[in-house]
Amino acid sequence: MSQEGEQEQSDRKKYEFRKVIEDLKDFEGSGTQLVSIYIPEDRQVSDVVQHVTQEHSEAANIKSKQTRTAVQDALTSIKDRLRYYDTFPPENGMVVFSGAVDSGGGQTEMVTRVLEGPPQPVESFRYHCDSDFLIEPLEEMMADQGLYGLIVLDRREANVGWLKGKRVEPVKSASSLVPGKQRKGGQSAQRFARLRLEAIDNFYQEVAGMANDLFVAKRHELDGILVGGPSPTKDEFLDGDYLHHEIQDSVIGKFDVAYTDESGLKDLVDNAEEALADAEVMKDKKQMEEFFEELNAGDLATYGFEQTRRNLMMGAVDRLLISEDLRKDVISYDCEECGNTDREVVDRRKSTPAHTCTECGSDVEATEEDREDAIDHLIEIAEQRGTTTKFISTDFEKGEQLYNAFGGFAGILRYSTGV
Ligand SMILES: [Zn+2]
Repeated sequence: MSQEGEQEQSDRKKYEFRKVIEDLKDFEGSGTQLVSIYIPEDRQVSDVVQHVTQEHSEAANIKSKQTRTAVQDALTSIKDRLRYYDTFPPENGMVVFSGAVDSGGGQTEMVTRVLEGPPQPVESFRYHCDSDFLIEPLEEMMADQGLYGLIVLDRREANVGWLKGKRVEPVKSASSLVPGKQRKGGQSAQRFARLRLEAIDNFYQEVAGMANDLFVAKRHELDGILVGGPSPTKDEFLDGDYLHHEIQDSVIGKFDVAYTDESGLKDLVDNAEEALADAEVMKDKKQMEEFFEELNAGDLATYGFEQTRRNLMMGAVDRLLISEDLRKDVISYDCEECGNTDREVVDRRKSTPAHTCTECGSDVEATEEDREDAIDHLIEIAEQRGTTTKFISTDFEKGEQLYNAFGGFAGILRYSTGV
């Protein structure tokens, strides 16, 4: 699969996960009876089944009959789901939620959700039984998954590594043979200075080589490079154009750090916090700026559900822009009288409204099957037409406008359609 394709998949997956998380947050158990299980990819499913079986028999000791039944039902439901898996869970592991949730009017309802292959690996096995589902670890996995290259150096030592999501991964280090400032007796001052500069230059080349080896192959996935060290070392290093030009262009900031060992990589990330947050939003900002340019001065912008959908169907949309905060359903009203189809976008929590056909004026009823998630609806068309989907945060003005003023849906076109 192409990198673009993988990115889209993960965007869509993130959206699916976010939806489930929101649902689960709304559920409150009426006792300690909601079960959450985090399963790493290297954990045998049979082990997990055994654990669940054990919990099931221990649950027999729960005094309240209602709670006991609820927990045991949840565990049985989980065991039923686990039966569909082979020896090991899917890549990155999986998370299972099950429990009896309050469905109003004193009634409870059994809910089971299985999330396969989260955007980041499940790190450790967790079994959790409480009045709430355990959502936080999953939310952390959903947080920005950026990939950044890290370089820390002074004239004696250097380390390079990755920042993957929130994890710092040291990869390689080097130390230099650059002599100190004190020259030995008998050496001419000039010769000493020249040798020292040469040694520094060699070391910078070595560090750049190390960084290039690591980062150049991943340059299309990289969200940026951070460089740390004391002044003026990091400035000399950057100003001297030692890095591969594409890597050099990806440098999003240089920061003072006290150490240049592995702990320096962590310092670098701490000190770059603001720049990292900006870089995340910057990607979204660029998309929205292009959209507004087209809207004001070009003819390659579209917005609103219906217009965007029509352009998508024509295969004319290059990038579909969807507000990250949007939670809407679309209802398709198929008129039996004249064959016309109208669509209405409604709030996720609103019931399906009555509708009058815009062509012939007949009353049209819609069933549950005519209603679906509006984002899923558009992404499905986008995937068939080779359109890239971008989720846009509302943490900046133009992102907020996408949500408020443009209905949360917009697109940048490949060619003008007049729609
Ligand atoms: Zn009609």
